[in-house]
Amino acid sequence: MYTNVLNLTRELINIPSISPKDLGCQDILIKRLQLLGFNIKRINFKDTNNFWAWRGYGKTIMFLGHTDVVPEGNISAWKTPPFTSTICDGFLYGRGAVDMKGSIAAMLVAVENFIKKNPNYIGRISFLITSDEESTGKYGTKKVVSILEKMEEKINYCLVGEPTSENILGDCIKNGRRGSLSADLTIYGIQGHVAYPHFATNPIHASSPFLVELSTLSLDEGNDFFEPTSIQISKIYSDNKCTINMIPGELKIFFNIRFNSLITEKMIINRIKQLLQKYLIKYSISWVCHAKPFISPPSTFCNILSDCIYNCTNIIPNIKTNGGTSDGRFIFHLANETIEFGLLNSTIHQVNECVNINDLLKLQNIYFDVLNKLFL
Ligand SMILES: [Zn+2]
Repeated sequence: MYTNVLNLTRELINIPSISPKDLGCQDILIKRLQLLGFNIKRINFKDTNNFWAWRGYGKTIMFLGHTDVVPEGNISAWKTPPFTSTICDGFLYGRGAVDMKGSIAAMLVAVENFIKKNPNYIGRISFLITSDEESTGKYGTKKVVSILEKMEEKINYCLVGEPTSENILGDCIKNGRRGSLSADLTIYGIQGHVAYPHFATNPIHASSPFLVELSTLSLDEGNDFFEPTSIQISKIYSDNKCTINMIPGELKIFFNIRFNSLITEKMIINRIKQLLQKYLIKYSISWVCHAKPFISPPSTFCNILSDCIYNCTNIIPNIKTNGGTSDGRFIFHLANETIEFGLLNSTIHQVNECVNINDLLKLQNIYFDVLNKLFL
């Protein structure tokens, strides 16, 4: 019964499309969409492949996804070859099974089934598929969205196929994501002999009270949609080759902040600056904002999707914004609602990534149901 979605997932897994390479995954999808009468616009930049496909007029749903995957990691820890899809005990193993070749297959087969049944539906179905979601994100969804903006495209509902389910298919959908801001901080001291500390300034000692306060800093309380903004220190080092008798001259500290929509990048940077000043620290700092937060307050589309999930799984999904960033951040301003829903995320980016084969069929049915509810 699920031969079609299973076979398409397998076909895609067997292509080692390590980000940002696509290696022909999109050709497979495009061929099938052309048979359904979709218009196709390939929008490739450098080594990234993207396409925008659409069929119909009026109220528009966009399926957003990616054909690239992360590398296999430690190959000897895989039970099966990562780029040869393998079925074992009701699960399909292979890199990209859940993130997100399985979801892409489910979207495509759902659309095929819907159009075969309802070729004259009123509305527009579209796809935006990229191959650099797992790498820099520079030449993928972001670039295509800038072109769609120039074309004055409007999207009513965007459905991102990222794996959002946590313990069982359907238990979680995402209606936003936190932002991500990274800091590269250098603290300056005065290098010297450990036995003569009065002639030196130890940057590790000088920064310790600052680090304690930084690691417990409360920036906001969160709200109904978001957890409080959080800070994680990810690396500390001094380039001291002589650990017995030398005080280092510098200390490097890296930290990342996952922030919600209650606070801006600028507010965070000012707060950290105040903290550094409070402890009279000599420093230099550079910041990179990888993603800004976004939120789609639950409305029509979120309700339709929740109903369809309940109809297929008997589960009422939680609506959350946790986890990493996603390409939803590039599109949400073009769409009335951007919602993410896909397979289980417990094995994403791990060795032995796998999907429950029954979940593939269920996901296809949920996506199919969404099309029915939107357009019939
Ligand atoms: Zn993904």
